[in-house]
Amino acid sequence: MTRQRRSAPASAVIIAVGSELLTPHKVDTNSLYLTEQLDRMGVAVRRKLVTGDDAGEIGAAVRQALRPGELIFLTGGLGPTDDDRTRETVAGVLGLPLAEDPAIVADIRARFAARGLEMPDLNRRQALVPAGAGVLANRRGTAPGLWIDHEQAVVVLLPGPPRELRPMFEQQVAARLAGRSGVSGIHRRVLRIAGRAESAVEAVAYPIYSRWQTSEPVMETTVLSTLGQIELHLSTRAPSSEEAERRLDTATAELAAVLGRDLFSSDGSSLEAVVGALLLRHGLRVALAESCTGGLVTSRLTDVPGSSAYVRAAWVAYSNHAKVAGLGVDADLLEANGAVSEAVAEAMAQGARSRAGVDVGLGVTGVAGPGGGSADKPVGTVWVALAGPGSARRARRLQLPGERDRVKFQASQAALDMLRRALLRL
Ligand code: ATP
Repeated sequence: MTRQRRSAPASAVIIAVGSELLTPHKVDTNSLYLTEQLDRMGVAVRRKLVTGDDAGEIGAAVRQALRPGELIFLTGGLGPTDDDRTRETVAGVLGLPLAEDPAIVADIRARFAARGLEMPDLNRRQALVPAGAGVLANRRGTAPGLWIDHEQAVVVLLPGPPRELRPMFEQQVAARLAGRSGVSGIHRRVLRIAGRAESAVEAVAYPIYSRWQTSEPVMETTVLSTLGQIELHLSTRAPSSEEAERRLDTATAELAAVLGRDLFSSDGSSLEAVVGALLLRHGLRVALAESCTGGLVTSRLTDVPGSSAYVRAAWVAYSNHAKVAGLGVDADLLEANGAVSEAVAEAMAQGARSRAGVDVGLGVTGVAGPGGGSADKPVGTVWVALAGPGSARRARRLQLPGERDRVKFQASQAALDMLRRALLRL
């Protein structure tokens, strides 16, 4: 569920140009990147679209986007070849004549010369600039970007390759946008919650954040339910950064008071990063024994830089044989309880802990599906167990919904969260 209110931000349209983006082989990531950057500046993206390298389609998209105050971004199609149509098409739609800019030609020629090559004549097309347009230098490629102020709209042409587009946006476009009306610094906070359903988060959080929607400056709150966690996104646009941050601090504290230990991060950190920081703080090391998660818990923990300080060893003990031989799980115990059981999850955690000689062992065993379920252990049944720190022993049975990959991720989330809560008790 989403509850939002915005105070008249500038709006933008993004048009990603490239026939390859209409095939199954290439994803348009430029518009995601631009949306993220614009969102930070308080600019709302009103529409995104992808067109092929087709003058008719590009022209129609630009004509449709044009309206006073609009920021229109086109990415791609600035290359030297015949199928690169963006520059000429936009100039045509806006009725601006194109003229060759000798400084750009010299620049492109120098780029070729630096590699011992002569500039092909074809590249002169990239030096064509619509009358009145600003040139955005491209330090990583030959195609310069263009900034066109047209009546009250702005049309920005950016190169397709992300490694060229991103620095161009950050170093040149962002500064030009910053001066425009409706563009202002927006301050955000992401709160992450585990172990509580979305409705349970809403029940305690809504009475608090609904009050902020009428206060000045407005604090917007979005509730996002993602796999294994709920996120609360807070954003505000106060007159100064200090005031915005102060308001966000107060809002976070109010929510933290009702969410308690279910709130695991209020700075956007991932669960694995939070667990890692706690292990580090307490000087503890962990070993993992994973069955149905296939190493996912270990993979997530080791995604965090510096995790070698607390991740000692891991076993992906998928078969019964591996559980016995690798982790020392008792064969009779396995036989009597089955691989997906409290006793085996505990034995796996204990085995990892003692074989690695560490403070904490974490074990996960379950039925990820789609096959392998039974009446008493249906698909999605997962046991998570913790051995340590100290004499602490914990085990929990979960019944997780969804497909195999979702069961695996939620199991890894529950395992990490169990470890986090145990560390918080220290
Ligand atoms: P060049 O001068 O390199 O030809 P260009 O502006 O003409 O740049 P395109 O030819 O359209 O850009 O695209 C070049 C490459 O950039 C594409 O092969 C693709 O890999 C990447 N690219 C283009 N558009 C996007 C996009 N929207 N998202 C991600 N990658 C993109």
